[in-house]
Amino acid sequence: MKKTRVRFAPSPTGPLHMGGVRTALYNYLYAKQNGGDFIIRIEDTDSHRFVPGAEQYIIESLLWCGIKPDEGVDENGKVVETASPKHPHAPYRQSQRKGIYRKYAEELVAKGCAYYAFDTSEELERARSEAEAKGETFIYNWSSRRKLRNSLTLPQEEVEKLLAGRTDWTVRFKMPEDTVVSMDDMIRGHIEVNSSTLDDKVLWKRADELPTYHLANIVDDHLMEITEVIRGEEWLPSLPLHYLLYQAFGWERPRFAHLSLLLKPVGNGKLSKRDGDKMGFPVFPLQWTNAEGETSHGYREDGYFPDAFINMLAMLGWNPGTEQEIFTMNELVDAFSMDKVQKAGAKFNPEKAKWYNKEYLRKKSDRELAELFIPILKDNGIDTDKEGIGHITDVVALIKERATFVGDFWNISKSIFTAPDEYVQKDVDKFWKEENWKPAYEAAKACSTGEELEEYIRSRELPMGKVMNCTRLVLTGAASGLGISDIMRLIGHEEVLRRWENAVNKL
Ligand code: GLU
Repeated sequence: MKKTRVRFAPSPTGPLHMGGVRTALYNYLYAKQNGGDFIIRIEDTDSHRFVPGAEQYIIESLLWCGIKPDEGVDENGKVVETASPKHPHAPYRQSQRKGIYRKYAEELVAKGCAYYAFDTSEELERARSEAEAKGETFIYNWSSRRKLRNSLTLPQEEVEKLLAGRTDWTVRFKMPEDTVVSMDDMIRGHIEVNSSTLDDKVLWKRADELPTYHLANIVDDHLMEITEVIRGEEWLPSLPLHYLLYQAFGWERPRFAHLSLLLKPVGNGKLSKRDGDKMGFPVFPLQWTNAEGETSHGYREDGYFPDAFINMLAMLGWNPGTEQEIFTMNELVDAFSMDKVQKAGAKFNPEKAKWYNKEYLRKKSDRELAELFIPILKDNGIDTDKEGIGHITDVVALIKERATFVGDFWNISKSIFTAPDEYVQKDVDKFWKEENWKPAYEAAKACSTGEELEEYIRSRELPMGKVMNCTRLVLTGAASGLGISDIMRLIGHEEVLRRWENAVNKL
């Protein structure tokens, strides 16, 4: 049996959408499950759509997610340009493979499966407007090509003259007339399309001596020995052409799987950046700043753990057939199967993304979370060496259940690291009565733990709620928040008394 080889073939036209990350993930899971290779190829033959920084962004995103390519990208996260035993098909950027494709285009012409087209853009524009005037749409196909300027209609000598003298000709695929193209998709099953509905796509352009997506894609999948093409459903309309191209070359074709779209949380349609901006969730793995200087949210910068993000994405369009929702990457590799990938689009639920993060946060050790908390504490002016990792870990143990992100820790635990510098006025109005705070202060002086404090209040038959609320106001600046015993334990008796002195002076 042939070794499984799949590829993720992004075009560097902007930041990677989370739908693209899911495509890469399913490719990766499929490869690993079958003991195969996951290859990265950069499809950058459309120079008009090239966006600087996008390629690096895409690779950095995959690496952050733990989707590690076997081929095409080196240990430093660079796209490989020179062939080696590990990267035998380099370069992996199509713009650098430019010289490869022309002969394949010409091979198809020689076989009668493609032809040279000499129509100028003005001529094509004219044909388009003429059709429009008649209420029709112009399509370059089996019918219209008979009336256009190409190697099928012009005499041989003229073709040769034009090929030599002009630099704006193209090679077009000669789409057969009225032929049923019969295809199989691993997710969608059997599909049939009549070729008469399809157009004669440009395969290669003399102007920039570059192939179009279709030719480069098929040639490279063939040369790189790709066994399965797993990609987004937006490429399904190209499948008949790709089938016919394989047939024309006489090459064995890979199997195909077209993944459904990620859909908006509410309403219909494809999940877009605009939905994210409107509802306040990221659609990109990493933060991205475009040429206009506008920055979009990223899962990484918003505080999501990559394994939580990946787990959530895996379940968008695939299910294990059981109730299990939490999967590590290795568990996903074992459990994934193409026959449980759904045909219908998957609605994205931003709340579920948060739920996943909360679950992953809970699973992490207190110590690991404490390490992640340290930079945030530092940013808030806390001397973390003085506090000590042991203490910070104790605080994390207390608060982690209340948090979704490590970024939530500071607000939840601020009152442990700093004395309140102000007090919530409505709580002051409600609870700061002399008959309550005086005994509470006495109690604080007498007791060093929360348990002792409670016992003190109970034995003297003081009003428990009122006294406790005063204490909490003094310790945290508000009458709600963390438990008093926990705060007392974590800040120590001396600090409790200091906060009391402060409060009595200020209030
Ligand atoms: N370059 C295409 C894209 O950006 C790849 C399509 C494919 O995987 O065949 O989506």
